[in-house]
Amino acid sequence: MTQYVSKAVGIDLGTTNSAVAVMNPTDTDIVIHKGGMNARTTPSCVWRNPGNGELVVGRKAFARVGSEPEPITSVKRLMGSRRTVTLAGEERTPVEISAEILREMKRQIEEDVAEFDTPDVTWVVDRAVVTVPAYFDQPQIDATRKAAEAAGLRVVDLLHEPTAAASYYCWRTGTRDGTFLVYDLGGGTFDVSVVRCKAADFRVLGISGNTMLGGDDIDTALARHLQQLIQGDDWAMDLDLENDAEDRLRFRRLKSLAESVKKGLSNSEEFMLRDSGGLTDKEGQRVVIDTVMERAQLEKIARPLLERTFQYCDEALDQATREAGVTLADVDQIILAGGSTHLPLVREMVRSRLCSPAPGSPAPDGPRAKCTEPVYEQVDTVVALGAAVRASAVGGLDILNEERTVRVGFRGTVVTAADRTVVGGTVEALDPDLDLTGGSVRLSTEEYEDEAQLKPGGSFAFTRIPVQPDAQSLLTIEVLDADGELLATVGRAVVHDREAGAKPVGNPVRAAINAKPILLEVSREGRTEREELIPALRSLPFKERYDFSHPGDTDTVEFRLYQQARQIQVITVPVPSSTPRGTVIDVDVEMDVHSLITVRGSIGDHPFEALVEVPPEAELPSEAQVADLTRAFEQGVEFLAAGEKSVKKAKMEMAHTAFTDALARGEKAVAGHEFEQMQAIADSVGKPEDGALQPPRADFEELVKDCGQLNRYVATISAKTEAPHDEREIAAAVEVQREQGERALSAGDQRSYSEVITQLQHIFDHLRTVAYRHQQENEPVAPADVAASRLQSALEMLAEVRRLVQASRTATAQHRQDVEDIGQRLAGLQSLIAQDPNRVQQEAAQERQRLIQVKSIITPGSRNEPGGGVLPEALNRGPRR
Ligand code: ADP
Ligand code: MG
Repeated sequence: MTQYVSKAVGIDLGTTNSAVAVMNPTDTDIVIHKGGMNARTTPSCVWRNPGNGELVVGRKAFARVGSEPEPITSVKRLMGSRRTVTLAGEERTPVEISAEILREMKRQIEEDVAEFDTPDVTWVVDRAVVTVPAYFDQPQIDATRKAAEAAGLRVVDLLHEPTAAASYYCWRTGTRDGTFLVYDLGGGTFDVSVVRCKAADFRVLGISGNTMLGGDDIDTALARHLQQLIQGDDWAMDLDLENDAEDRLRFRRLKSLAESVKKGLSNSEEFMLRDSGGLTDKEGQRVVIDTVMERAQLEKIARPLLERTFQYCDEALDQATREAGVTLADVDQIILAGGSTHLPLVREMVRSRLCSPAPGSPAPDGPRAKCTEPVYEQVDTVVALGAAVRASAVGGLDILNEERTVRVGFRGTVVTAADRTVVGGTVEALDPDLDLTGGSVRLSTEEYEDEAQLKPGGSFAFTRIPVQPDAQSLLTIEVLDADGELLATVGRAVVHDREAGAKPVGNPVRAAINAKPILLEVSREGRTEREELIPALRSLPFKERYDFSHPGDTDTVEFRLYQQARQIQVITVPVPSSTPRGTVIDVDVEMDVHSLITVRGSIGDHPFEALVEVPPEAELPSEAQVADLTRAFEQGVEFLAAGEKSVKKAKMEMAHTAFTDALARGEKAVAGHEFEQMQAIADSVGKPEDGALQPPRADFEELVKDCGQLNRYVATISAKTEAPHDEREIAAAVEVQREQGERALSAGDQRSYSEVITQLQHIFDHLRTVAYRHQQENEPVAPADVAASRLQSALEMLAEVRRLVQASRTATAQHRQDVEDIGQRLAGLQSLIAQDPNRVQQEAAQERQRLIQVKSIITPGSRNEPGGGVLPEALNRGPRR
């Protein structure tokens, strides 16, 4: 009997490099594919030979970097977007390019599994666990799954890269319990996760990272440094990356050169740079470089980029603390992954920031992980190795009969330490003519036979199969249809090994989670809000029902899904045009274990399937948008406590710098991503008082009311004195501002709101001046009364500012002192009212002005105080008659 056996493989589909591995037939060891020169990774690089049209993937394609036509690199950065790349003049999607890479990985590991073949068993590769950065958005994950399917691989699981790295560590060391921080710095991405393993089951507790930060950025920075060196030697190297394609190629070569310098400096303190790798300057002269680069120079360049990674570590740890009370002090091991962790500086920084000091060293300045060193093992392949461990645990074995008409999927491992074992799985007909309904499975060994009915979905289980001690037992499984007709026969081995279980492969529990919160944009009472639909770290699948009321006057209703600041999906729901406004729309949103989102629902009695689409790529932001975002952030951040404020500010600054740098380099994808990071940071600052604008609505309403009353008052006194006053015009102007203010409030638009407040204040000031003039002309007030009134309102202001200073987080000791000094001076004025009313009038007004200044510092955006000491008490009461 010949049969086909499919074992799921593990693939790390990296931005820069990919790797593939599989566990051996007895699940005792991992086989990682080795290519030419024993390379365990394959560049994620695709090129089409213009000569013969041949598609080249991997090392040979990578060798074409820096020459025309350029190969495609870092396509992972485009996954989930609508952007395309050009391959030999043809537009291709990131999914198609990734599928080519995956096809190559499949082909590679097929060479290795062929080694397991026996005369009657042929091993095939058609299923895989593919890893994705934990920080991937839903559309990015979705695109990865599609790429795997296009490459002819069934996706057994999409595993987070850090979980894969932790799985490998646990498998290798036989650890069943532990808390890990995985620090994965690759070529293009930085990913950090806090992962807990309990009874060989993994849970992600905190995630952070940046899909646009990695060794590549170090190469870019170093390439710029080299460019300066070369220019300093008078070569024509003033490159115009934005407009000149040849210059872009020159810079690519410089980057390749920089990468080799960087790698060289990982192993030695100095690197002799003699060969310019065929680099020519703008005048076509071959550049000759002869210099020695020192590790310290590289480290100076790399340090600021690496610095940024620790903020993400803090973020992941903060999340783990909120999620499970886990802090850095609970972390047992820091696991390094990714090629960039070969940099000694990375390991040094990780050690000094995150690990406990070696015994005898000074105490650290904060909490530290329990280990004194990070785990630095197989960093280039640890993710693929972990994926293989996972593939074995969840993928089991699929066996196809000789005719390839029936596929039997077995779950669980092949090795057991017990003397009886469980064998369960599912039967699937590959030939549409076969009918398994009502069928059964017969299992036999040399001394045992049993039969089980197929359950719906084709599943079956045998629970107490005896196995031969310390040997391999062969099981024969026959699939029969409802009439007892034999449809297929497959064989499977079970190995008895008393030592089995020493190396846990992890429970076949899916660790699928949703990394970043998914938000739904809803419009409520004319106000657009984003509500959390799927929270961060929620395990998948996730299903929830929402209801909305139909806005009326439309035949499609759109829901927009966001993942943090990024719009990920537009859901269009067709609604019959006759649907009355207010009809309830029920929506079931589901996210499956592969992060696939489906939306179903009903409007009244009408069920619908919504169309879920990836929205068009956001355009790069305009300068005004960037300025708006920065302003909103700066306003919001002022309301945070000092520590948090400086952290957020530093983060924003780094993201902003990365954004402008990327713009300058013409790397639009990176710039767009960094802008999203900026948006996420700005969002995380939040608006003061849960989205309320400053000053509070009550102040705005009062100002409107004051303007109205003062307007009517001025109108009455103007009528008496026959002075000109256009009450209606002013009332209309106030009304216009009131409407705009309402709109700004509901849109959460601080900028327009502030303008409205300023306008209203102008109106108020104007009315007040007019009223005051009338007052002076018609009912002169005694100077002592004016003085008393001004002092009174200064004292009222003093009381208010004192309260604010006490409650404010932004007020400093200096502010408090200032307020107290003013209080002293005001108290001194009291006895002078009768003696020197003019001086009291003047000084009380000045002190009041000082108080207003303090107030505006500690509560930014608050309006300048109208009224007060400028008006005599009588007039202040006037408008309210
Ligand atoms: P990815 O996960 O993005 O595919 P990898 O984990 O393969 O990336 O890491 C690739 C990055 O590692 C590249 O930026 C490469 O320059 C860097 N790298 C590889 N080896 C070394 C080394 N010895 N020293 C420093 N950096 C290295
Ligand atoms: Mg990687």
